[in-house]
This record gives sequence, structure tokens and C-alpha cells, in this order.
Amino acid sequence: MLKRLELIGFKSFADKTRFDFAPGVTAVVGPNGSGKSNIVDAVKWILGEQSAKSLRGGEMSDVIFNGSSTRKSLGMAEVTMTFDNAKRQLNFDGDEVQLTRRVYRDGQGEYLVNGTLARLKDIKEMFLGSGAGQGAYSIIEQGRVDALLVASTKDRRHIFEEAAGISRFRVRKMDTLRK
Ligand code: ATP
Ligand code: MG
Repeated sequence: MLKRLELIGFKSFADKTRFDFAPGVTAVVGPNGSGKSNIVDAVKWILGEQSAKSLRGGEMSDVIFNGSSTRKSLGMAEVTMTFDNAKRQLNFDGDEVQLTRRVYRDGQGEYLVNGTLARLKDIKEMFLGSGAGQGAYSIIEQGRVDALLVASTKDRRHIFEEAAGISRFRVRKMDTLRK
């Protein structure tokens, strides 16, 4: 379902960097400090991560390339993830979805869907139940495997509900009850 990831000015990726994903399992290999975890951070970030700490930073703008010995810092970080939606796994009527997230130095940010500004609420709705939502087990990192094993039965149920595609009904039900 995930086709492509493009980073511009995100952490160590100052230049536009593009990763194309083949079907199946993806493994990222490279020397220490080469940016493997930064790629995982980019995936978490674009899926709506709001906690700078879980992205190994102090504040959200810390994901912006902050310069090196040969290069000055940048003013914006941008991540674009392209999803194959031919099977309509996302709540979106189109064969491909390009999701973009940007953040600027002042902490302001925005989301775009296929190049058009979008609200975070609509994006969350689009991803609910797809198995790709934030906190879903589709991305299991070092550390989170343990978290899954020690989670309470209730928390673990939430993780599996999201992965199984039923949490969207629970959220909708809660919305309805609130009205
Ligand atoms: P390891 O194998 O040790 O886990 P890794 O490949 O996961 O390494 P990362 O943690 O992804 O490495 O990358 C670390 C590098 O990213 C460091 O060199 C750090 O300086 C750089 N980096 C992190 N944030 C930024 C930023 N905002 N601007 C520029 N460089 C950054
Ligand atoms: Mg790492």
C-alpha cells in the first residue's frame, strides 16, 4: 500500500530524498548515524505524530534540517508519503493518495492531500481502520515490540482493532454519542 516516501529538509535529509517501496517487507540498513531511524521518524511524523519527544527531539521544529559543517540550516521540513489506493483501503475515492506534512521554524505546519491543504481531522478519518494509522502495529520498532507484549489487554485490543480495521466504527460511534 505504501509506494513512496519523499523527504525535503527532514532531519539529516537536507536534499530531496526519495524512497520507493516494493511490495512486502521493507528493511532499512546502513551504518550508525546514517539516518535509518530518521526515516522511521519521518513515517511516524507524517502519520500524525504530535509528540516531539517520540521523534527524539525537544520541539516539533527540531525535525527541520539544522545545518552541518558544509551547509546552512533550512526553514522548512516536508515529508510526502504516496499510498496505492487502488483497493480503496483508505477512505478516499482515488487510486493514489499523496499525503504531505510541512513544518516551519516558527512551529506552524500544514497537511496536504494530493497537493491541497487539508485538516488533520479529515486525514485521520481517511486513515482510520486502514491499519496505517498512528499507533497501529503496522510499524513495530525496537522498543514497541516490548510495549505490545506488556500492554494491558485493553490497550492491546486497541492496537489490534486499529490493525484489523474496526476502530473506525468505534470512533464514529463515539462521535455519534457525543452529538
Ligand atoms: P543507528 O544505527 O546508530 O541507530 P541511524 O542510522 O538510525 O543510526 P539516525 O538516528 O537516523 O541514525 O540519524 C542520526 C543523524 O541524524 C545524526 O548524525 C544527527 O546529527 C542527524 N540529525 C538528526 N536530526 C537532525 C536535524 N534536525 N538536522 C540535521 N541532522 C540531524
Ligand atoms: Mg537508529
